[in-house]
Amino acid sequence: MNIHEYQAKQLLRKYGVAVPQGAPAYTADEAVEAAKALPGPVYVVKSQIHAGGRGAGRFKDDPNGKGGVRVVKSLDEVKAAAEAMLGHVLVTKQTGAAGREVKRIYVEAGADIQRELYLSLLVDRGTGRVTILASTEGGMEIEEVAAHTPEKIISVAVDPATGIQPFHTRKIAFGLGLTGDAVKSASKLIASLYKAFNDLDASMLEINPLIVTGAGEVLALDAKMGFDDNALFRHKDVLELRDLDEEDPAEVEASKHELNYVKLDGNIGCMVNGAGLAMATMDIIKLYGGEPANFLDVGGGATKERVTQAFKLILSDPNVEGILVNIFGGIMRCDVIAEGVIAAAKEVSLHVPLVVRLEGTNVELGKKILSESGLPIKSADNLADAADKIVKAVKEAA
Ligand code: ADP
Ligand code: MG
Repeated sequence: MNIHEYQAKQLLRKYGVAVPQGAPAYTADEAVEAAKALPGPVYVVKSQIHAGGRGAGRFKDDPNGKGGVRVVKSLDEVKAAAEAMLGHVLVTKQTGAAGREVKRIYVEAGADIQRELYLSLLVDRGTGRVTILASTEGGMEIEEVAAHTPEKIISVAVDPATGIQPFHTRKIAFGLGLTGDAVKSASKLIASLYKAFNDLDASMLEINPLIVTGAGEVLALDAKMGFDDNALFRHKDVLELRDLDEEDPAEVEASKHELNYVKLDGNIGCMVNGAGLAMATMDIIKLYGGEPANFLDVGGGATKERVTQAFKLILSDPNVEGILVNIFGGIMRCDVIAEGVIAAAKEVSLHVPLVVRLEGTNVELGKKILSESGLPIKSADNLADAADKIVKAVKEAA
């Protein structure tokens, strides 16, 4: 789960991370009120969407206009910037061409930027440690820096047994070319970020840019934060920050029914039990020249209702031109699956070819139920046969 910049900053402030003063707003009037509480005279109005590159992004209905982050110098300009953002669709490098409607903004005190640096924390699966990445190239995408000037990236892995130590933070601060008091404030900030990351079970925390002000202060000017979904049950306060507007509606619906669904770009919908089998099914569809429309794992103990929900979900994607059901009946019996498939096919008035491959417990009974249903369901004997049949059926129907 990801959260907005202003939410990340509110969390980080509690951990002692230095961030500029600011407040969120949902209307232009609220934005002006938020600005009045700031010292001025420079304000920054920032679009809040779960995607980076907002500053360089452009609004769809205003291609010659300014970006999604604007530095302004009066309350009137705060209002104008808020009106230009709220309810408008912002397209950035990370949103894709469709863009994202801005529904909230953040009004922040303008900072006196002397240097822009990069800092992030992530879980490195290779070492099993939280790794801190830093670079002097603030404001740039770290992927670009890694591709062209990898020597500019400082990487420090923190042993979970010791936690963060002064030598870690000093290595980063010196690596960033900081001197004097800036070393102290950067070290404190990095240690606070690490504590927040650990305590909150974050999976990613990116501060881009981290700045040094004219007065030598070190501040987090942007904040992007993602959390480990499997640990959210112990962070109710973080879970409350979830913004469903920022998530794919089909994926939100899927999570309500405990279905693991990820939408993809192809035209063959897949319904499978088990993540490994789902991956194998997607692979074999590709091997036979097709493209999967989704990853969908209905889980081990799926019921008839859940199978029906899964079908509805697959068919809610207008790109789907055929469905492949691939179920291995272990805990789940094939006859239950067959009944679920039939009930769902009737309920949603199936209009695309459907291939079903069943294997395992009660497979004969399952196949019998399908063939006696009177529905145009093609039965397949093995994975290769199933992929071959659905790819051909979709091509024929096209
Ligand atoms: P994004 O990464 O989505 O473009 P940022 O929050 O990094 O958004 O903002 C983009 C740029 O806007 C920053 O690199 C910085 O130069 C400027 N900026 C952002 N917040 C402030 C602020 N409070 N004061 C001054 N400049 C800011
Ligand atoms: Mg940024």
